Amino acid sequence: MQTADGELIDLRSDTVTKPCPAMREAMSRAEVGDDMVAEDPSVNQLQREVAGFFGFEEALFVPSGTMSNQLAIKTHTQPGDEILCDETSHIYTWEAGGPAFLSGVTCRTLHAPSGIIRLEDVEGKIRPGNQHYVSTRLVIVENTHNRGGGAIHPLEGIRQLREWTQRHGLILHCDGARIWNAMVASGISAREWGAHLDSLSVCFSKGLGAPVGSALLGSKAFIQKARKFRKIFGGAMRQAGILAAGALYAFRNNINRLVDDHANAGRIAQSIRETAALALEYPTPPTNLVWFKVDPQLATGDEFVSLLRKEGVLVSQAGPQICRAVTHLDATGPKIQAACDAIRRVSSLLEAGKK
Ligand SMILES: *Cc1c(COP(=O)(O)O)cnc(C)c1O
Repeated sequence: MQTADGELIDLRSDTVTKPCPAMREAMSRAEVGDDMVAEDPSVNQLQREVAGFFGFEEALFVPSGTMSNQLAIKTHTQPGDEILCDETSHIYTWEAGGPAFLSGVTCRTLHAPSGIIRLEDVEGKIRPGNQHYVSTRLVIVENTHNRGGGAIHPLEGIRQLREWTQRHGLILHCDGARIWNAMVASGISAREWGAHLDSLSVCFSKGLGAPVGSALLGSKAFIQKARKFRKIFGGAMRQAGILAAGALYAFRNNINRLVDDHANAGRIAQSIRETAALALEYPTPPTNLVWFKVDPQLATGDEFVSLLRKEGVLVSQAGPQICRAVTHLDATGPKIQAACDAIRRVSSLLEAGKK
C-alpha cells in the first residue's frame, strides 16, 4: 500500500527533500557572480545573514556538511594534533576518516551517553606536553546528535566545555548540521548557541530542505584561513549564488516549521511503542530522528526494512537490528499517518509469525 498518489513515503533521512516551487523560483532569480573572488552577491548575502544570526563575524558557504566539518578540523589543527570527540560522532564515524586523511590528526573517542560530551568525559584527557604524545587541540560536539537519537546538547554543558577548553588553550567546534532542530525544540536562540563556540558548522540541506549547501561560521581570521583550505579541498565554486539562494530561502522560511517534524517524530515513536516487535532506542525522540530496534527473534533489521518498503514506507538500517526513521518537510500529515499504520501492520505480521 502507498499514499493516494502512489508515492513512497521516504523517511530514510531529512536529506531526501526536494526544493519546493518557491525555492526553485528563488534559485532561478538569484543574482550571481564569481564566488572564488567573493563576488557572488547571493553567496555574500547568505554568509552575512547566517553569520549574524548566530553572532559570528563571518561565514563560508561550502558544498556539504562534511566539507564544513573537515575544513574546521584542518583550519584549527596541525598534523599530529589530537581531537576529542564522541565515538559515534559524525566527524569520526561518517566522514570516511577525513580527520586522518585530510588533516593528519588522531581522534581520541569518548564514550558519552547519547553522544553528549560532558565535562567529566574530557577531564584528564589532555595529553602531557612531552615528546611521547600528540598535542590535544580541539573538542568537537554535535548538536543535535544524530546517533544519539537527535539529542540536544544542553546549553549549560556547552558553556562548561567552552570554559574548560579556553582554560586549557583548546578549541571548541560544533557540528551543527541540525542545530536548527535544537533551537526550535529548546527555544534557545541561535545567538545563545553561537556565543559558546569557536566555530560552528550548519547544514541547509537537512531539515531546512535546500538541495545543496552548508556553512562554516567563526571569526574573521578563522574564515579567512578556512577559505584557502576550501580552495585546496576543491570546494571553491563560481556562480554558487544559485545554490546559495536555495539555502537562503530554506534559512528564511523553514526553521520554525521544524516543530511539525518533531511532532511527527513523536507520532512515529508512538506507533513503535504500540508494537511488540519494535523498541525505541531512546524513549522519547527530542527532535526529528527516531532510532529503533527490531526484535531479533522476529526479524532482522534488513527484513523489517524490506517488509516496510512493500508497504510503501522507507526507513534506513544502521546495524543488524537497528533502524532509523527521520521526519522532514516532504513527509507530513497523511503521509505520517500512513507510515504509522504501515509500521503497525508490518509489526503485527511479524508478531503473528507471518513474515
Ligand atoms: C549529515 C550530517 C553531516 C554532513 O552533512 P553532508 O552534507 O551530508 O556532508 C554532518 N554532521 C551530521 C550530524 C550530519 O547528520
